[in-house]
Amino acid sequence: MISDRLSALLGAVLIFVVSCGEAAELEPKPVGSVTHSSDDLKPKETERGIEKIWSIKATDKETAGAAAQTIKEAEQRLSAFARQHGLEAFVPDIEAQELAVYPSKKAFDTFLRDSNRWPSDQQIPETIIALYAYSAIHVVEESAALENDDRLTGHQDYVGVLTHELAHGLHIAVGRAHQISYGPVWFREGFAIMAASLFENDPISDVDFRFVLNGKAERDYDLYGAAFRRLADQRPVLELLLKADSPEFKEWALVVGGLGVSDEQ
Ligand SMILES: [Zn+2]
Repeated sequence: MISDRLSALLGAVLIFVVSCGEAAELEPKPVGSVTHSSDDLKPKETERGIEKIWSIKATDKETAGAAAQTIKEAEQRLSAFARQHGLEAFVPDIEAQELAVYPSKKAFDTFLRDSNRWPSDQQIPETIIALYAYSAIHVVEESAALENDDRLTGHQDYVGVLTHELAHGLHIAVGRAHQISYGPVWFREGFAIMAASLFENDPISDVDFRFVLNGKAERDYDLYGAAFRRLADQRPVLELLLKADSPEFKEWALVVGGLGVSDEQ
C-alpha cells in the first residue's frame, strides 16, 4: 500500500518503476567519494539535525563538488521550513541519499525515457528538470537548469529546486509515519513549492484557488504553491498533510481557503 502511495507521489505523471536495464550513456557516473563535511560513514547529529552523506553522481568532479554544496544548502532550507512548521521530527527520515546530476536537459530527458519514468508517447515538458524517485534525486546541472527555465533566476532558485525534491522526501516521511496518502497532485507539489520558498508571489485569487482545487491547473507550479500557501495561512501544515488523506479533503480545503462549497459555479 505504501509503495502504491509512493509511486503516486513521484510526479505529476505516472512513473512506472521498471528495472533500468543498460545504463544510459549520458547517465552520470560516480566520480569518487564526494560527501558532506564528515568522514564518518554514518549520518552525524548536528545542531541543524541530521547531516547525511550523499552519494553524488555527475560527469566530472567539479560538478559533483558544486552539487554536494548545493544539496547541503537545500537541506538547510528544508530543515528551516520543517522547524518553522513543526515537521522537524521527520527530517531524519527523508530517504534520499543519492544525487544524480545530468549535464543537460537533454541528458536528463534521456534518463527519464530510458528508465521508463516517462511515457514514451508523451512529450517531456521543458520545465521538468528534477525528479525525486525513491532514495534518489535526479537533477539537471545548475547552469544548464538556469538556462533552461526562465522562472529560475539564480543560484537560490536552483537551491529551491533541490529543496523542492527533498520536500517530497519529507512528505513521504510524514505519510509513512502516519500511514496516510499524499493528496492530489496540486497539493503534493504545492507543499514542495512552499517548502522550497519557490514562486513566492501574490496571494491567489478566489477563481484560481478553485481552479487549482478542481484539478484544472495542470502543471502550474506557481498556482500550486499559491494555493497551498493560502491553506497554510489558515491551518498548520501538518494538519493539512493529515487532512489530505480524507475523501472530503477538497470541500474542506475550499472552506478553509475561504470559499464555501455552496457558491460553486
Ligand atoms: Zn515536485
